Amino acid sequence: MFSLTFMGATQTVTGSKYLLECEGKKYLIDCGMYQGIKKLRERNWDKFPVDPASIDGVLFTHAHIDHTGYFPRLVSEGFSQLAHCTTPTVDLLKIMLPDSAHLQEEEAKYANKKGFSKHYPALPLYNAEDAEKACERLTPISFYMDLVLDSNISVTFRKAGHILGAAMLVMDIKCGRKHKRLVFSGDLGRKGIPLLPDPDIMEKIDYLVLESTYGNRLHSEEDRSIILKSIILEMVDAGGILLIPAFAVERTQEILYILRFLSQNHQIPNIPVYIDSPMATAVTKLFDEYIDLLDYETRLLVAGGQKLFNFPNLHFTESTEESKALNDLKGPAIIISASGMATGGRILHHLRHRLPDPKNTILLVGYQAAGTRGRSLMEGAEFLKIHGEEVPVRAAVMTVEGFSSHADYDEILEWLSHIHHKPAHVYLTHGEVDAAKSLAQKIREFYGWNVSIPDYLDYVELN
Ligand SMILES: [Zn+2]
Ligand SMILES: [Zn+2]
Repeated sequence: MFSLTFMGATQTVTGSKYLLECEGKKYLIDCGMYQGIKKLRERNWDKFPVDPASIDGVLFTHAHIDHTGYFPRLVSEGFSQLAHCTTPTVDLLKIMLPDSAHLQEEEAKYANKKGFSKHYPALPLYNAEDAEKACERLTPISFYMDLVLDSNISVTFRKAGHILGAAMLVMDIKCGRKHKRLVFSGDLGRKGIPLLPDPDIMEKIDYLVLESTYGNRLHSEEDRSIILKSIILEMVDAGGILLIPAFAVERTQEILYILRFLSQNHQIPNIPVYIDSPMATAVTKLFDEYIDLLDYETRLLVAGGQKLFNFPNLHFTESTEESKALNDLKGPAIIISASGMATGGRILHHLRHRLPDPKNTILLVGYQAAGTRGRSLMEGAEFLKIHGEEVPVRAAVMTVEGFSSHADYDEILEWLSHIHHKPAHVYLTHGEVDAAKSLAQKIREFYGWNVSIPDYLDYVELN
């Protein structure tokens, strides 16, 4: 017998955390931070449902903060064992966890200075030192290697195609004389997007914890490079700035990949492009080290002597001074900055500066969780609250949908079609209620499987 407790990403997309218990051992699969809606963010501050010191190991599907961002807190609260993840995930986390600590320290400092926090003094969830200690726990494992956690559980990491290093976890668990296979999809990627390999196919699953971010939506079939090109050309005409809030991991590189293509094929004029995110810069460099984990087309390109992310007039800003100097930048130009949902980071200063001018365009290129500034912009907010100030939105706000690194419901159903036998149960997580419900309905209709949508702290015994 083993059990699962759903500690996060239940009927919401952030805070992924699942506790697996088997024969007295406890493992945490993902250790994500809640982002977005305040009520959820406040959960980051709750006492952790089990004693972190009693957990025997952590496994990360991938590096995104909604799957890893709580980890330094877990370590500071007493977790002292290993955290297993793929090698690129280790490298990404060594960049992302310190950055997350820094963001929180900055935010707390700012809140104290401006006095807009309810709590005084406002505190970060963890600091740089906690993040550093958390990084010391990270242990790399290669894709497809068998990792034996204890006498009952072994796990392999298979490619999820979601971001660099992203895995689904295949856990083989001994139950008496039988073996059961529990799979965590992590965030499921898409087929045929630039840079990344397609998600691995899975044939046998007994229990599945499946993401449902786009459980009620289909991605647009339109060619993203064509859309991006037309937006850039319009922006050039208006003489404004195209500001792109983009996740430092993956989305920024995907956009750079397309911009390189457009630039090289003389589809867009030679305008300056600024990557204003030290994290995005570091991550972009990391891609060069993992060419072998990228998709076939990309490897072919590199083998042919191409640089992945390089074209004339591309600039990476490092210091805060360089970033601030961008305030004086006159259009046409493109600024790409993080975070992707405008929840923090340098993008906030750019938004504050660029939103009031109708010449500018804000381009949203990824999932915007409920409660984030990105979502408010997407839904046509007239003002945006940034650092306690109401900033008027006069710039054009556009959304390109196809940029998602999550499978849509068709792609999820296609991925499920490879499973040979009916799984005993499918748990849908990592989706807002409507998305999860809609996907549950489709899985029941198409395959007749048992599907449920767990609630926060739901506990299930599996056999
Ligand atoms: Zn993710
Ligand atoms: Zn996620």
